Amino acid sequence: MPKQFACEVVMPEGAQPRAAILRTKEYHPPLGSRDGVRLDFNENTFACSPKVLEVLGRISRADLTKYPEREPVEKIVATHLNLDASQVLITNGVDEAIHVLCQTFLDAGDEFLLPVPTYSMYEVYGSSTEAKIVFVQAEQDFSFPLEALLKKITPATKLIAIANPNSPTGRAVSHKLILKVIERAPQAIVLVDEAYFHFYGQSVLDLIETAPNLVVTRTFSKAYGLAGLRLGMLAAHEKQIHWMRRVISPYSVNGLALACLPAALEDEAYLEWYVTEVLQGRELFTATLQRLGIPHWPSEANFILTKIGPKHKEFAAAMRRHNVLVRDRSNDPGCEGCVRITIGTLEHMALGVKALEKSLAEIKWSPDEG
Ligand code: PMP
Repeated sequence: MPKQFACEVVMPEGAQPRAAILRTKEYHPPLGSRDGVRLDFNENTFACSPKVLEVLGRISRADLTKYPEREPVEKIVATHLNLDASQVLITNGVDEAIHVLCQTFLDAGDEFLLPVPTYSMYEVYGSSTEAKIVFVQAEQDFSFPLEALLKKITPATKLIAIANPNSPTGRAVSHKLILKVIERAPQAIVLVDEAYFHFYGQSVLDLIETAPNLVVTRTFSKAYGLAGLRLGMLAAHEKQIHWMRRVISPYSVNGLALACLPAALEDEAYLEWYVTEVLQGRELFTATLQRLGIPHWPSEANFILTKIGPKHKEFAAAMRRHNVLVRDRSNDPGCEGCVRITIGTLEHMALGVKALEKSLAEIKWSPDEG
């Protein structure tokens, strides 16, 4: 068929998406090879628990013929977190949890309050609904903008998303301040995204019983090292889980991921080893940044936001030449000249430090540029 004709047939006029989709920004993960030391995506830089691989090795051909069942695994997750199974929903990564939340709770005329800078998928999924996104800029030091946020709460506020610790800044907000937000917006769902919980150690999961508008998310992509399996979860009052089950695709979490999750949870020694590596790595890397005069923000997560200044692009390219990937965050609100660097194992951080020293020398960077 001539190309021109095929085009006319395949693209009939009038097949337009919803207006909100026309306005939605497309999310593009950075392209290209990710060979090298991966200090760019806040993943576990090493590996998952070997117990997870053992489970994968035992998967049979017959196992793959079955539709996955998430509910038995939800019981295991709930027990692990001292919750009731009715308060837990396993998702295809926290990204799916955010998508499901937006689809379940955001309607035309609603407002979605978003302190920024923050994780980009809140805006992506929020903007594919008819709701209005109201941005609240963080303070200069990236601390949580409590007063500004409280002022923007209106009867139309339906969702508030707080990443705690936040990405890309690494800053955390206290239990007390989160409680203030929950109390001031009883008409809204307050999402507290604890994707980086293991590197911070503080949680608001204890409020699930008493705060019916709270949703807490956790991921298995970071400390557990399972980003490729796509496993996340949300915890909330039973009533909210019930609404979200109407929206979520029943088989969105695949059988391999569900089979692996109990083994990952059980191997607490492995998790503890990895978290200890990161916490030590964070301390050592912070000392390196101080020694080299690179401005940065204190972090409670497995990454540190640095301010390289006008040479941010050159810096990221130089690091790549030295086989270390980092993430330029210059386009995030208030983050001009900033580059985020993931903290991994001590071995990986030693490679990161070497690349950092060489890269700064190559681009002739000096501390007054930061
Ligand atoms: N929340 C935050 C704050 C994140 O930084 C990320 C991943 N970068 C996610 C959620 C997504 O996690 P998942 O891999 O479980 O979809």
